[in-house]
Amino acid sequence: MANTSSGVKQIIMLTLGWEELPKAWSIHGIDQSERLVEPVPALLVETIDGWVLLDTGFNKALIEDGALFDRFHSKFHQILPILPAYGTDPLLDALDRHGLSVDRLLAVAVSHLHNDHAGGLRHFGGSDTPVYIQSKELEFGLGDIAKAQGHGLARVDYDDPRLNFKKISGDVEIAPGIRAISTPGHTPGHQSFMVDFPQANGANGFIFAFDAGDLKENFESELAIGGFIDVEASDTLDQIRKLKSLAREKQMVIVPGHDPTIWPTIEEGLSRILK
Ligand SMILES: [Zn+2]
Repeated sequence: MANTSSGVKQIIMLTLGWEELPKAWSIHGIDQSERLVEPVPALLVETIDGWVLLDTGFNKALIEDGALFDRFHSKFHQILPILPAYGTDPLLDALDRHGLSVDRLLAVAVSHLHNDHAGGLRHFGGSDTPVYIQSKELEFGLGDIAKAQGHGLARVDYDDPRLNFKKISGDVEIAPGIRAISTPGHTPGHQSFMVDFPQANGANGFIFAFDAGDLKENFESELAIGGFIDVEASDTLDQIRKLKSLAREKQMVIVPGHDPTIWPTIEEGLSRILK
């Protein structure tokens, strides 16, 4: 999808794997036996200053090594990680498919430090590439290791002094046309992203919720998400409503973080347009 009238020139949606899990992780309170395969999302956004990567997918090593799998994934909250059947590394392969590499990015940002979003940060250790994260998220991730690991964070993904973290607080522009929107609850420093991208149909861009709301129904029916830390389930509705109100105010479209009916559809649409 190309654009010339804002700081953002192009948006590419990436699917860096999948996870098979109880839908109750996405919709609070429903029957645990209903399972769903959800995409692992990431985005490449080309701005007038360069390419920005939003989220980084799984750390493949934690899935392929038996002992690490046991520690971080095996029966872990009944979430089964699935890697693409092809290629060598989901993130590196995706960058390569679009003619990019880790040393060609202007910046990286992570919505939060869960292992399906922060697992690719290891590729940026030792590079100058800034990695934008909410201060509270890093503080939580580097705090009580048992608590963080118990909530699905793998400290090895982000506890690297060679990473050039840029800690931010609240709603902050991180690159031309890309604004981080603080949406804590799912994790203590979760952030979503607002991307300016004026459309012919009058919409001004997209709000990528990431895990502030996994599925379309979280937003359409205002249903609380099932995964949250240090808050009540109903508190997660505050962030869903914040994003809905921003979307109304800015005339933007909300894209949920893990919706299997939306994410691949958009990806296919974008690749058609890019061809
Ligand atoms: Zn998450």
